[in-house]
Amino acid sequence: MDNKISKGLYEEAKKYIPGGVNSPVRAFKSVGLDPIFIERAKGSRIYDVDGNSYIDYVCSWGPLILGHANDDVIGGIEEVVRRGTSYGVPSPVEVDMAKLIVEAFPSVDMVRMVNSGTEATMSALRLARAYTSRKKIIKFEGCYHGHSDSLLVKAGSGAMTFGVPTSPGVPEDIVKNTIVCTYNDMDSVKKAFEDNKGDVAAVIFEPVAGNMGVVIPEAGFIKGLREITREEGALLISDEVITGFRLSYGGAQEVFGFEADITCFGKIIGAGLPVGAYGGRRDIMENLSPIGPVYQAGTLSGNPLAMHMGCKNLNMLKNNPGIYEGIEKMAIQIEEGLNAIIDELRIDACVNRIKGMLCLFFAKGPVKTYDDVMRCDTEKYSVFFREMLNAGILMPPAQFEGWFLSSAHSDEDIEYTLVECKKALKKAFG
Ligand code: PLP
Repeated sequence: MDNKISKGLYEEAKKYIPGGVNSPVRAFKSVGLDPIFIERAKGSRIYDVDGNSYIDYVCSWGPLILGHANDDVIGGIEEVVRRGTSYGVPSPVEVDMAKLIVEAFPSVDMVRMVNSGTEATMSALRLARAYTSRKKIIKFEGCYHGHSDSLLVKAGSGAMTFGVPTSPGVPEDIVKNTIVCTYNDMDSVKKAFEDNKGDVAAVIFEPVAGNMGVVIPEAGFIKGLREITREEGALLISDEVITGFRLSYGGAQEVFGFEADITCFGKIIGAGLPVGAYGGRRDIMENLSPIGPVYQAGTLSGNPLAMHMGCKNLNMLKNNPGIYEGIEKMAIQIEEGLNAIIDELRIDACVNRIKGMLCLFFAKGPVKTYDDVMRCDTEKYSVFFREMLNAGILMPPAQFEGWFLSSAHSDEDIEYTLVECKKALKKAFG
């Protein structure tokens, strides 16, 4: 594969941008390659500056559930731009977006827009701490909630790939208020509450952990979290930045039947523009400025272009529930295809899938906890990634990420992917 232009750009980028990238996983470091630079994308395909095309299973890490540059989503955007790119005072489309989110999530009475998932979780914690007048929070090892100080403790995603349990620059004084528990282990949560009686403001969690591959909550785990937070007077914060509008239109709360106190959103609600949001019960949300004392603001929050695109994305999903069935069907096809290959090649690998979310782990199953995930053979994953890239398939450039499907992926894409997966796995397990 020719990637001369990408290589040149990377050299140039490294002079001006730390590591040449604006988000660490994009550097392809953990798979031992230089990054490809993208020129354009459409549907399930992404095209690099050297003219190579790939079936894309990154899909911008989740926002593009309808594929790249979906005509219905981008339609009319020029007209919106012509009316101005940001006003600094309210616009009607912000109300449309808030209504869509509130209607989709029964636990959300009110919602505040921000610019990223990181801002959503960071602001949700501030609100939870203020509401409960408590300092401590509980999070889970391997769950990633963005890069704010309190949450960058034993996080997943890039922080896991780069082996940074807690980043330098995060003060001890902040970390001491973050208690880390084990995903799918209620005993660890009970102990944390016992050891910190009356001090825990909130438990924040990913209802399907999507930043250490895909780890599915065991029966009773979410119910256990809901019960213990109620008993202990702490808030339950469901980080649905990935699962919201992806696992189903009503997110993980619809699928697992629970109501969080605060829910965090991102990705799909912005359709690829920079957006996040957090919402919850009225009595909690009314603590936010300007009606309450908890300050949180944003120059570009509720940006009209982002709201326009996001509303289009959500309306498409709301009016076409078949999209979810289609994506789940493809995920099952991949799961079954991979399981057949794993059996045939007799290799130590396994697939975790729930609805349309899935991941191939390079470790013997089952994978239920962070420790299970850490058994993965990342060297073999690198070989797999490189083989797939050469075959024109862009997989997540790290083992600890889910595969992102969209409604734009076709049966042919899936069939071709499985054929190439078999070849790449053969090579990786050589
Ligand atoms: N929460 C979850 C579950 C995420 O997956 C991410 C990002 O991948 C974030 C929060 C942070 O979102 P952002 O990257 O938009 O800041």
